Amino acid sequence: SAPLSIVRGAGEAAEHGILMRTGEAFQGYRLVDTVVLDKTGTLTEGRPAVREVEAFSGSEADLVALAAAAEASSEHPLAQAVVKAAFTRGAVPPDVISFEAIPGKGVVAQTVAGEVLVGSPAFLAGRGVDLSSAAARTQDLEGAGRTVIMVGRDRRLLGLLALDDSLRSDAAQAVAALRAEGLRTVLLTGDNERAARRIAAEAGIDEVHAGVLPDGKAETVRRLQATSKVAMVGDGINDAPALMQADVGIAMGGGTDIAIEAADIIILSNRLAALPLARRISRRSYAKML
Ligand code: ADP
Ligand code: MG
Repeated sequence: SAPLSIVRGAGEAAEHGILMRTGEAFQGYRLVDTVVLDKTGTLTEGRPAVREVEAFSGSEADLVALAAAAEASSEHPLAQAVVKAAFTRGAVPPDVISFEAIPGKGVVAQTVAGEVLVGSPAFLAGRGVDLSSAAARTQDLEGAGRTVIMVGRDRRLLGLLALDDSLRSDAAQAVAALRAEGLRTVLLTGDNERAARRIAAEAGIDEVHAGVLPDGKAETVRRLQATSKVAMVGDGINDAPALMQADVGIAMGGGTDIAIEAADIIILSNRLAALPLARRISRRSYAKML
């Protein structure tokens, strides 16, 4: 059975909305020297909003309607923003015949209006869609910190949507507290480099790994583990492999079930302040055992 100080530590953590799943979670987190944070839904609220809609052919309403049809069954925060944008514009999405979500990339749907692709520029480019007409505009929007997603139909680019998402109100304070304890902080995201740098600067994180696919997230954690003990904090399906790979996986309570199942520690409160707090509780619980 667990030592009494660990049982007490688990109780104290629970009072702060932190679920320590195992005794090993305390031991592991106490020893961590690097904290890797996902961007969307972890450092940010995870409630992005569509800020710009640009249709290169057809109307904006049609563009948003097609994008919403493809995104309707996705649980990605970007998808929810797209569906909301269609709803507020009164756009009527075409019927969907089949749908597939590709974590870290986007979605592809067969609709009565054709095959619709919605996702990162790299995703559409990889599926043979020519993005050259959108290149300059994409650079500008990403430079302003936006996440740009492309919409294509039957391999033709129809337009783009630019979204943004706000930093969690306690992100900078939580990062500062981790750094004050001597921890290295790293931002790890599938989003574009420019948007990632912007969020990292706001949060006070200086190391950024952007444009990383889900398998790449686990691989990045593995590389960091060559020299460090790593905690990974995430919320999405795309974070699950990295949460499993890390010495300690930490999931936001508002995250997807798959991320929560992959984690050793769950932040039920959804507050990033829990990150330094859980570490202090872990250290104290161990100190009392000795
Ligand atoms: P993060 O690492 O910030 O949580 P993801 O790995 O989930 O981001 O997504 C990385 C990128 O893939 C997004 O910025 C977006 O361009 C694209 N993407 C992923 N899922 C979707 C989706 N459902 N709709 C549109 N784009 C998506
Ligand atoms: Mg995320």
